[in-house]
Amino acid sequence: MARHRNVRGYNYDEDFDDDDLYGQSVDDDYCISPGTAAQFIYSKRGKPSAFAEPLEEEYGEEQPDTSVPTLGVADQGKSKDPQSVKSESEIVPKVTKMTVSGKKQTMGFEVPSAVSEENGQSANTPRKGLATEDAVAAPVVQQVTNKSTHPPQNNHTTDDSSNSLPAVRSIGKSKHKIDVRAELEKRQGGKQLLNLVVIGHVDAGKSTLMGHLLYLLGNVNKRTMHKYEQDSKKAGKASFAYAWVLDETGEERQRGVTMDVGMTKFETKTKIITLMDAPGHKDFIPNMITGAAQADVAVLVVDASRGEFEAGFEAGGQTREHGLLVRSLGVTQLAVAVNKMDQVSWEHERFKEITSKLGHFLKQAGFKETDVAYIPTSGLGGENLITKSQLSELTQWYKGPCLTEQIDSFKSPQRSVEKPFRLCASDVFKDQGAGFCVTGKIEAGYVQTGDKLLAMPPNESCTVKGITLHDEPVDWAAAGDQVSLTLTGMDIIKINVGCVFCGTKEPIRACTRFRARVLIFNFEIPITQGFPVLLHYQTISEPATITKLVSVLHKSSGEVVKKKPKCLTKGQNALIELQTHRPIAIELYKDFKELGRFMLRYSGSTIAAGVVTEIKE
Ligand code: GDP
Repeated sequence: MARHRNVRGYNYDEDFDDDDLYGQSVDDDYCISPGTAAQFIYSKRGKPSAFAEPLEEEYGEEQPDTSVPTLGVADQGKSKDPQSVKSESEIVPKVTKMTVSGKKQTMGFEVPSAVSEENGQSANTPRKGLATEDAVAAPVVQQVTNKSTHPPQNNHTTDDSSNSLPAVRSIGKSKHKIDVRAELEKRQGGKQLLNLVVIGHVDAGKSTLMGHLLYLLGNVNKRTMHKYEQDSKKAGKASFAYAWVLDETGEERQRGVTMDVGMTKFETKTKIITLMDAPGHKDFIPNMITGAAQADVAVLVVDASRGEFEAGFEAGGQTREHGLLVRSLGVTQLAVAVNKMDQVSWEHERFKEITSKLGHFLKQAGFKETDVAYIPTSGLGGENLITKSQLSELTQWYKGPCLTEQIDSFKSPQRSVEKPFRLCASDVFKDQGAGFCVTGKIEAGYVQTGDKLLAMPPNESCTVKGITLHDEPVDWAAAGDQVSLTLTGMDIIKINVGCVFCGTKEPIRACTRFRARVLIFNFEIPITQGFPVLLHYQTISEPATITKLVSVLHKSSGEVVKKKPKCLTKGQNALIELQTHRPIAIELYKDFKELGRFMLRYSGSTIAAGVVTEIKE
């Protein structure tokens, strides 16, 4: 079936036609010890450490080096029993909802049915010639012109205190001074921000679970929910009514899978949560990376039904791949919703079986046992989502928190508010009025209306005319916020997804060549010089070539074990040089954790995680 969907410049036409390219999962029999993995994955909670040190000390502890057991092939078939949906709440607060493409909606109104097409338009400035993963599998493009773009100055240092901006500064024309930290406190009413991504195998029940959770929290009004129920019944998909709260495009509904990363805001007792519902289908892993790259914590949803958990967990399933990806992208805290427990009569034995298998794997992937919580749930029945379930079958053996209590207990990462401003564009689109809009998460620093910013590449300046946060216009926004900026003084044509917007004084550098320390995942093909990869970095996936294998490093000490190796194999820790086809704006990992790490994919599989150690001229 030929479909066109241009998500952040990623053309999925061919992806739909050739599923085989996505047939591999990261890991069928993951073989890297957590101690090793820990050096390549990092925590969003801590501060950047010097590269020579392990990237994340908290995982440096000794942990058993065992491989994940491979399970037998289970029935992949899915039964989608239509079940009736009960409505509960009358409360109708306003919930802001923003897709990555910047299309904003307020729930309670009708959801447009053609968002997928709009997305295509909204990304009307795609990175031209952006490769799909198919292209990467094509013959190697060896020689690439080096087009480094240098900013006028780049004087930020690795020292937090020395590169920090004053918390109080005067802004643009208004000369109004703000104390960002104090303002942040005020704005959040003492609540902390947390970006949460929901991951898991397709059909595990992610959308239903989160849709129902939002409904129970009073974030979807009864009338809207009723409409979803009616419409889903009419479409013969009654069991998907809650999922429709999140799966908002007509195409997603028809296909029954979440494709783009939608964003919704909700609140718990002590947190303001930006929820990103990541796509579960393997076609959409690159989208999922984008969502996870912006997340602080994750909810992994697994289907407890017999055969279904197994299908999601083994080769070809997304449970393990997603788990590994989010960990590699910096997520350290995880809530596992062992979902559809109603399908297994809330059996404690089944719960234990699943948590033991998952626990073993997650430990290997680099999650600390104390940072992973397992919660038995029923997304469809709404059990154990926002209040502790009173079902006797469950209360007999489960005394732990419900899902929102668990989310509430997550620690919020430290926000780099005092660092120079950085925002990586996840979408660029033309809005009404002057200028254009750029959406993305502020990775560091803060921005105010009237500020002058630099976009890298192309190293051009612009002015912030407006800032939108959760559908509301605001004067300023700070690290951790998912915002939409209205910019003037620059031609939209020059801006692509992946451009980093920064302050004019301490800009980010753009380059095509850099050195990185990588951890090779479980990948059977030896990686040689000239190996073509897709570099997943922040919101972009850019074709790149491994131009040099500099050295193999010792797994724990980081010392050079072998210089100029002929090839790299699975589980190895190495220093390599990468060359991208077009300039990208990156940072050293030691300076800006979030902007100094990336994933490498090859022919549909994630083959390595890496951190930038040196930017080449
Ligand atoms: P996603 O692909 O992970 O987002 O999964 P969906 O939310 O679209 O759900 C897939 C199917 O599983 C739908 O038919 C849901 O109604 C069903 N489902 C989701 N959660 C539950 C649950 O807790 N119990 C049961 N029995 N079915 C569920």
